[in-house]
Amino acid sequence: MTSMRTTRTDSTRADRLAGEPADDAQWDAIRTNNAAWNGRFLYAVESTGIYCRPSCASKPPLRNNVRIFRSAEEAERSGFRPCKRCKPERERLPDREWVEEIKGFIRSHCHEPLSLAAIATACLGSPYHLHRTFKRVEGVTPADYLQSCRLERAMSELRRTDASVAEIGARAGYANAATFAARFKREKGLSPSEYRASVGAKPDETEASKGEETR
Ligand SMILES: [Zn+2]
Repeated sequence: MTSMRTTRTDSTRADRLAGEPADDAQWDAIRTNNAAWNGRFLYAVESTGIYCRPSCASKPPLRNNVRIFRSAEEAERSGFRPCKRCKPERERLPDREWVEEIKGFIRSHCHEPLSLAAIATACLGSPYHLHRTFKRVEGVTPADYLQSCRLERAMSELRRTDASVAEIGARAGYANAATFAARFKREKGLSPSEYRASVGAKPDETEASKGEETR
């Protein structure tokens, strides 16, 4: 059986370093065997050559020996073997599902001041991996996505309501009217009021014309 065991050479060590070091949130999950993080990442231990799920009850590794992987395939490609106790190879990391969850969270909270850290806390991930996974799956960053949600929301309100531009900007999560106007202009090539006029919503005349129509 010993023939199956590969001796560690410089190259396998270099390959193993393909994973990432654990950030504070991940390390905390590993240290506390936090099952809520299963599916978010796998961790491999340099000194044992084995990889585990966050919840694994095996002896806690030294943080410096920990490498983080996004999938069993990645960990195995880097020369690690699955732990017999927590069977991490059975876990398919549902990145797509996770990203959908993140998108839902961003959409429904886009009117709030939303930092990457806040998104990561709500969606159970570390900011770094959330950002990377989101970018890989969606092709844009969470911040880009947040901006497009805000813009969509503002556009919809400009079309449907007669609230003032400043009010709509605030409701859509822009820090102030100037930021709203500048971002809007950059994305759409029009100011918010020009956009409103271009789609035919003329709030100043809405009430008057309504009165005429119902006559
Ligand atoms: Zn394990």
